[in-house]
Order: sequence, then structure tokens, then C-alpha cells
Amino acid sequence: MTRARVLLLTAALGPLDYRVPYGSEAPLGSVVVVPLGPRRMGGVVWEDASFGAPEPVGDNRLRNLFEVVPVPPVPAPLRKLVEWTSDYYLAPPGSVLRMVLPGAAFADARRPIVEYRATGELPARMTPQRTVALEKIGTRQGLVRELAALAEVSEAVIRGLVKAGALEAVAVSADQPYPEPDPGFAPPDLSDEQTAAAGQLRDAVAAAKFETLLLDGVTGSGKTEVYMEAIAAAIDAGKQSLVLLPEIALTEPMLTRFAARFGCEPVAWHSGLRSTERRRAWHSIAAGEAKIVVGARSALFLPYAKLGVIVVDEAHEMSFKQEDGVHYHARDVAVMRGHFEGLPVILASATPALESLAMVEAGRYRHIVLPARFGGATLPDLAAIDMRQDPPDRGRWLAPPLVDALADRLHKGEQSLLFLNRRGFAPLTLCRTCGHRIQCPNCTAWMVEHRLVHRLACHHCGHVMPPPRLCPECEDEDSLVACGPGVERVADEVSSRFPEARVAIVTSDTLWSPAKAAEFVDNVEGGLVDIIIGTQLVTKGYHFPNLTLVGVVDADLGLDGGDLRASERTFQQIAQVAGRAGRGVKPGEVLIQTRVPEAPVMAALVANDRDGFYSAEAAARKFAGAPPYGRFAALVISSEDIEVARGQAQRLGAKAPVADGLAVYGPAPAPLAMLRGRHRFRLLLHAPRSFDLQGTIRDWVNSVEWSSKARLAIDIDPYSFV
Ligand SMILES: [Zn+2]
Ligand SMILES: [Zn+2]
Repeated sequence: MTRARVLLLTAALGPLDYRVPYGSEAPLGSVVVVPLGPRRMGGVVWEDASFGAPEPVGDNRLRNLFEVVPVPPVPAPLRKLVEWTSDYYLAPPGSVLRMVLPGAAFADARRPIVEYRATGELPARMTPQRTVALEKIGTRQGLVRELAALAEVSEAVIRGLVKAGALEAVAVSADQPYPEPDPGFAPPDLSDEQTAAAGQLRDAVAAAKFETLLLDGVTGSGKTEVYMEAIAAAIDAGKQSLVLLPEIALTEPMLTRFAARFGCEPVAWHSGLRSTERRRAWHSIAAGEAKIVVGARSALFLPYAKLGVIVVDEAHEMSFKQEDGVHYHARDVAVMRGHFEGLPVILASATPALESLAMVEAGRYRHIVLPARFGGATLPDLAAIDMRQDPPDRGRWLAPPLVDALADRLHKGEQSLLFLNRRGFAPLTLCRTCGHRIQCPNCTAWMVEHRLVHRLACHHCGHVMPPPRLCPECEDEDSLVACGPGVERVADEVSSRFPEARVAIVTSDTLWSPAKAAEFVDNVEGGLVDIIIGTQLVTKGYHFPNLTLVGVVDADLGLDGGDLRASERTFQQIAQVAGRAGRGVKPGEVLIQTRVPEAPVMAALVANDRDGFYSAEAAARKFAGAPPYGRFAALVISSEDIEVARGQAQRLGAKAPVADGLAVYGPAPAPLAMLRGRHRFRLLLHAPRSFDLQGTIRDWVNSVEWSSKARLAIDIDPYSFV
């Protein structure tokens, strides 16, 4: 009889043993479907020795596995990565495995799927709901469920539209091969520096050995063209390439750039895909056919059959850190995948993370520097506007020098960008009469006014409400006022100052799909926009040659939070957004509004002294024992019942580990004391680099009783401290 140990796709259980039915084979890595109680569950045949031994089950009590799914087995290096990720981030292995095997893995790629699209005919009976639904669907196509979500109506409404002839069925095949990218399609015209850098990357791909390469080049130096040569080398070698991007909104313009270089679009992987697209992409990746995959961090765990290189673009971006479920950092896990698979990992950035620079210094990463902008473009001039000396008019947010600079660009027909990392109209609504502030009922957070859609919204849980007419506290009429600016409010000011200017607001509210992002790019490139007003979404990736002015509306905003990376993040964000200016022949100018121009980070930005900033920041971190020179871990205990959360946190706190060099802070209410209706208490651990944090936490957490109503989230190497 053959036994197979199976790691299941569930967080709740470790591996379980099953019987392989006579006549079947289920070697290591096989994707299988097994019975679990009354249910069917997916899993992977795993090494016996991993994750400790499950309870021994006699041969006679073993259940048969149902089926070996006809997809390639999960390769050994990827199984190792799952184990490492689970071990390092203290996450259930089944949760990590879920990222390798999403639902798409179990769907038969050969079976056609029925999607629906508009026929252009209107149903005989139109309702307002049907009108809106058809408008929102437009020319898009999808499953009934997807169209319902898109149109924000019930599935019954969509089915009604099908019956009425307004939508028609289309059979979509999910196993169509993707076009093959051609490395010789449009080789770029590289500068000498780019050619040298590209040569190093090509050699690293050809060597097919693990190495981490930090491709470090100022904004506009043409890093993308350079790492595309590594991808060309991988295609030449018959291998796949994975490019990780921090933002889904960036995907569409990126796909276009790849198409221009390789003659066809790469395969995209992100949460916005339709389920047919996911199914097709997953199977093609697992078969080794998808040659170039561009995706969000979740693309990192897919089972590439023949991976040759991983590129992490904008590698300093903190959004590579996942903040729920498995709290992993995609940049760090990418390096581990390179290690297990024996392949080069390229981290590309204009403002590398301090962690990456420390690895260069330690001799662990190879440093490849592109010192100049491509095509002779110069770096923009940066200057600070001291808001204490040059304040904006009352109730306004733009200081006179910035207003003058905007007027000048409008006059010359050049484009400007105003950067403010705050969505909506105003971050706070306050009652003038009684001082009441409107707060989210589910979170310790203010409701943010979004005037364009006439709503107050919580950015943490998504709760929305219409702006109240009366103060909810004192019931005074018309006493509520907006406090502080968001991008919509800055846009209002721009429109009232320059009524003729064509303005585009760029936030996750306006650029919520790759198609919207593509439309925005077209409009700016086509000269249909004079002034862009945006959040961090506009700080990276975009290349607009006619954009010559960048205004940073509130440079101090990121410093307020005060977490250990506040200065670094501020430096990176402003350097990135500054890098949008003057990328063509016309030089760029950057004006930074700040109340603390003397702060080291502002001084370094204005002096264009990157090295000075990094060495001062590194020294400060070293002194504080902060990452990368020390380590943190956060434990957040939450419950809908505040007493349960508090009690659980105290029980844990009472057994806090004591060890040389280890400091345990808390338990204390987390800065976000309530989130999505759950009360949160936090414990923070700080230790030297060499300390075994994971082992300590594992023993500690197992040493206390856990209430079934309390939940624990463990965050190793946290980036968020709320
Ligand atoms: Zn009031
Ligand atoms: Zn909320």
C-alpha cells in the first residue's frame, strides 16, 4: 500500500496522511484532491519529514485520496520556499500553499468557459438599474458573477439582461497559448552605461546561479530597458522571467512597454484578472509556456516550470510588504526563491531600501549603478518653500512661489504635477460649534470626505456614509467643516485659480483599473492634461516628457507618523515624484512645501545628496538597533470584545520571554485601537539581528491559553506600526 503525506490548502491543519489508490501514482509535489470530513479539499503531496510528524494513523484507517490533478507537480525548490516562508513569517503552511495553488489551479483549462458581453441591443423593458448596469459593463466581458460585481447589481439583474437579449453568451477557451515574445523584436538603443549594466545582467542569467543584483539608477536612467535585456537572455535560454511590480495601476503601461520591446504583451498576474484569465495564466505558467510574467506580489509564489530570472521593479516600495494573511515581504521572499531555485534576482530602484544598500555594503549583493539620465536629460532642480515664511493664503494650500511656477508652466504649455499623499477632499470633518470629529464607527480613524462622490469614507474598513447635515453630537445645522486638504481640495484650488487649466486627479479612487490607468497615460501623453494632482500612485513608473514642474504640497506629511522608516519613506517618495520632472529635453523644477526645511531629509533632498542622507540614516538606525541592524516583530491580539482582547494580551504579556538583548514592549492598545470592529492590543519585540525571534515567539505563543474569540496576527519585520 502506498501512503502519501498531503499538505492541505487550509490554515487550520498540518499535513495529513492518505492512501494512494491501487493503480494511481502520487509522487512528491503532486497536486491532489482529498477527502476532509465530508468535504473535498486540494493539497500537495509533501515530504514526510517536514512540519513535524502528524498523529500516526493506522493503515486501515487511512482514507483514499480522490484524485491526482493533471497539472505539473509543485517542484522541490518551490516546496522549500513554502516551508521557508511559513517558518520565517510564522504563517500556517496551508496559507502559503494557497498562493501557489489558487482556485485556478483546480479548474480544467481545457473546458471552455461561458462569459457574457453586451449585444448593443436594449431590452424592451428598461429600468434605471438596467441602464446603469449596461453603462458600467460597457464593452467588457466576464462571468455573470464578475459582471454583477462590476455593475454593482445582483446576479439576477445580469441574468435578466441575458434573457432580454441585452447580453449574450461567448464561449472562451482558457488553454489558448499566449504569443511568444521575441527577444530580437526591437532591441533598444542603449547608452554605454546601460550596455555595460545590461551585459552584467545577461551574464548573470546565462550563469544560472543564485545572485542578487541591485540595479541602482537615478529616475529616468532607463533601468527598465536594462533589465529587459536580462529577460531577453532568459528567453534565449528557453526560460521564464518574472517581473514583480508594486502597484496594479502600473501594470497596463508596463505591458505596453514590454509589447514594444518583445512584440507581444507579457502574461499579467494580479487580483484584477477575470477568472478565465487567471485560469489561462496559471496553467500556462505551470507548463513553462508563459515566458514573461508581470505581476503583483502574489505572482511570486506561482509554480513556474522553468524560471530563469526574477526582477523586482521599484524594489524599495513598501507595498511589497503584505499586511494581512501571510505577512510576507515580496522583495525578501523573491531573494529566497532565487536562492532555492539557483537563479539571479534583480532589484531595480532609484532609491533603494536601506536594507538593500546594507547588503551591498556587506558584499552580499552586486551593485550595478546607472549614474546618469538617459538621452542627456538632466536631473531636476529641487528647492524648498518654507511655509512659515511663504504661507499660502487663508483656506488655501499652495504657497505663492508654487502658484507662480504653475502659472508659468500653463503659459508655456508645459505640464505640472502636484503631489499630496492623501485621497479625497479633506481628512477630517469637524463641528465648529461643539468640536465633534466624525469618526468611523468600526475603526479608530476619521471619516475622510470624498466630495466628488458626496460621501464620507473610512480608508481602513471601507465604511461609507453620506455627509450629515446636522452635527451628530450637538445637532447644530451647517456647523460641519472640512479640515485639511486632500487631492480633491487641492484640485478645487487649482481650478479656482486657473479656470482654464485641464486637471486630472490621480488616486486609487480614480485609477481603479488598468484600463483607467492606460486612459490617464493617453490623456497626459496626448497633451489633454495641464496639471496632474495625485497621491503616491503618480510617484513612479510614469514618463511624461512635457512635464517640467513638480510641486510637493505637504512634504512633512510622511514624517508625522514617526515610525522608524518615516525619513527613508519621505526621501524615497519625494525623490521618486521629483523624478517625474524634466524627463525629456526640457529641464525640470521641483518645489517642496515644508514647515521644516532644516530637517535632514529635506536638506538632503534639496542638496541632491543621496549618499549623505543614506549614511546619516544608516548611522541613526545602527545607533537605535533598528532594521537592518536589528529586528522587530509585532504581535497584534484582536477581538470584537474589548475585554477578551485585553485579557488575552495581558495573559501573553505576563509570560513575555526574557532574554539577553530582547526587549518586549506592551501590551498596549495599538495605535489603530479599533479596526473593522475589532479591538486591538499590540506587543512589540525588538532584538539584535542574530536573535532567534521566530523560535522565541513560537514557544511564547504556545505557552498561553488562547480564547477562541481572540485572534493573533504575527508580523515579522513589520513595516506598519499601527
Ligand atoms: Zn457639534
Ligand atoms: Zn473604518
